[in-house]
Amino acid sequence: MTEAQIRKLVTKWQKRLGLGEWHLMVKFDDTMASIADCEAHWRYLHATIRFNLPKMDARAAYQPLETHELTVAHELTHVLLAPINDMFGKYTKQKAALLEYATEITARAFVANA
Ligand SMILES: [Zn+2]
Repeated sequence: MTEAQIRKLVTKWQKRLGLGEWHLMVKFDDTMASIADCEAHWRYLHATIRFNLPKMDARAAYQPLETHELTVAHELTHVLLAPINDMFGKYTKQKAALLEYATEITARAFVANA
């Protein structure tokens, strides 16, 4: 998949999740350790989402259900849920795991019903 196709998916999911007022900066970085990540400043409706396209391609090749669209929906669900991060206070591994689970299960529901 190309960067342009990912950007198109971001636009699609930004609308679908009602994040039209947000400014989303999309970056591509094939040196990052993870497949994608998101840093959202919810008070200012601004988020930076980074994608590691080669890693996304590789994962989709051996795990067909882990589609590029699901990855995009997952990162935008992080944007949607960003204010909830602050409700839990101090960062812990358990908190991170719970938020990751909530993000993934929600993104999968969105994609399944798209
Ligand atoms: Zn995540």
